[in-house]
Amino acid sequence: MYAAAGIMLLVILTAAAGIYSCVSRNGRYVDVDASEPDLDVQLLDVNPYSRPGIQSDGINGIVIHYTANPGSTAQENRDYFNGLQYSQETEASSNFIVGLEGEIIQCVPTWEVAYASNERNSDTVSIEVCHPDETGKFTDETYRSLVQLTAWLCVKFDLTTDDVIRHYDVTGKICPKYFVEHEDAWEAFKENVGDAVGKSRREQG
Ligand SMILES: [Zn+2]
Repeated sequence: MYAAAGIMLLVILTAAAGIYSCVSRNGRYVDVDASEPDLDVQLLDVNPYSRPGIQSDGINGIVIHYTANPGSTAQENRDYFNGLQYSQETEASSNFIVGLEGEIIQCVPTWEVAYASNERNSDTVSIEVCHPDETGKFTDETYRSLVQLTAWLCVKFDLTTDDVIRHYDVTGKICPKYFVEHEDAWEAFKENVGDAVGKSRREQG
């Protein structure tokens, strides 16, 4: 009787430990691999304000940003970048935008310079991420897509999670805000990306 109860307890504890080990430090578990995510390709017109049409000098990193425009959608941000050729108010863009529902719009080919990461524009791929409010925290859907997109780019360009950086790491700008203000969330994000990359590399054998 006691032996049976003991075995039962052991089974429960083992199962709980198994689940726990999949959960990253900030408690988010994302079940994604590094396969190519669904990309809505809407390339910007080649123009001096958002798509200069210059080829990159190799790709040595992936730079994560947040839009700093709470509630704005991926489509609105993409259209804003494309509209800069007419408004001429500033130079800005990014290779990808991840939206509030996890949708991903590609604005600039990976091998072309986008105007997002200052002196790293010429050797990185940039990802702008939408967020619902001022905290800059991403929705679960957005976060999941961001992990998959980043992992896919790591595999595609033979990069590691050490090559995944924040805009903050380039210029000190508070971008992406949540990942600058919550170092643990940033580390957990990179861990999730590493797990996704590892899963794909294991699947490929
Ligand atoms: Zn930024």
